[in-house]
Amino acid sequence: MKNETKFVTAGRNDKWTNGVVNPSVTRASTVVFNTVDEMNNAVANRFNQTMVYGRRGTTTAFAFSEAMTELEGGAGCALYPSGTAAITNAILAFVSAGDHILMVDTAYEPTRDYCDKILAKMGIETTYYDPLIGADIEGLIQDNTRLVFLESPGSITMEVQDVPTISRIAHQHGCIVMLDNTWGAGVNFKPFDYGVDVSVQAATKYIVGHSDVMLGTATATEEYWPQLRDNSYLMGQCTSPDDLYLALRGIRTLGVRLKQHQENALKVAHWLQTREEVASILHPAFASCPGHEFFKRDFNGSNGLFSFVLNRGDKQSIKAFLDGLSHFKMGYSWGGFESLILGISNVSSLRSATQWSSQYPLVRVHIGLENVDELIEDLAKGFDRLNSALAK
Ligand SMILES: *Cc1c(COP(=O)(O)O)cnc(C)c1O
Repeated sequence: MKNETKFVTAGRNDKWTNGVVNPSVTRASTVVFNTVDEMNNAVANRFNQTMVYGRRGTTTAFAFSEAMTELEGGAGCALYPSGTAAITNAILAFVSAGDHILMVDTAYEPTRDYCDKILAKMGIETTYYDPLIGADIEGLIQDNTRLVFLESPGSITMEVQDVPTISRIAHQHGCIVMLDNTWGAGVNFKPFDYGVDVSVQAATKYIVGHSDVMLGTATATEEYWPQLRDNSYLMGQCTSPDDLYLALRGIRTLGVRLKQHQENALKVAHWLQTREEVASILHPAFASCPGHEFFKRDFNGSNGLFSFVLNRGDKQSIKAFLDGLSHFKMGYSWGGFESLILGISNVSSLRSATQWSSQYPLVRVHIGLENVDELIEDLAKGFDRLNSALAK
């Protein structure tokens, strides 16, 4: 089945829809049984999408996790109350005291914080690696290295990783390969075709797509699914059926949204490339983006999120640029229908294994579904304000 069809059908099993189009919202803590046999039967089938107790999920959770598995691939999908909870719990499911993990230097900042502040405390050591390390990852693998974590493209600076090469070498050394696939959204990057064992997403972003729900997913291969599922349960991870319903609704339009985000973002990025204030475009589809060759080789498309680096600007002038925008709001998220922008001047402080060379601000944009010419006009006026602030 092609993606477009999957977006419409995923998770819409008759068992979950009760004869209407969408799966029902089943709210429950207690699930009740009339006979001992019924109860024992439910417990025996607890891994087989049978309701036993609310924390194990109701039919709404089964529908959504089935839909995510259909989209991303893999053997099953565990659900978490946020993308961050998905990352922390998925890692924890596979490491023990004394283990070592390799973490990409351009990981989402809370992922780094988790390694430094939580895993370290539990005796799990982290080494950060250059996202473009490729086959040289081998030199960082120790006897106790258990897991290699990737995020591609990287947060903020968008480096695209050579996922199949890193996966192959990690596997040769018995390591689990885990990927933050939030940017790929299970659509533009198919993790299990490139050697990934566990794929994590902040469904908060494109899956939900409307900036109104926090949600995380972790999908795993046959080999790793039982351990992921059991650990997620043991950690008490569960999600609200109302939120899952909204996420399922998000999937229905995921394809058309991503296409339009992609088209709008490419138009804005090409326009930015003509601006004299812009030093480089960090959009995976542009040759100026590190790892662009892996994007071309492995991805099916792009979306609304990219960054660009300025060749001028200081605190005051970047503030003038950002404060006067009317269509771009500032916010720490992306993947909704609306445009967002962030000015980031401390890129160096977000990494430790690699150098960041620009002394000028980086701007990250999420290009939404607004009229793209109005977005460009808004940014053009922003550059005018930046330049006049600098001329003062
Ligand atoms: C937002 C984000 C997360 C975390 O998701 P939350 O739902 O906000 O916890 C993880 N990884 C990436 C790449 C993200 O952009």
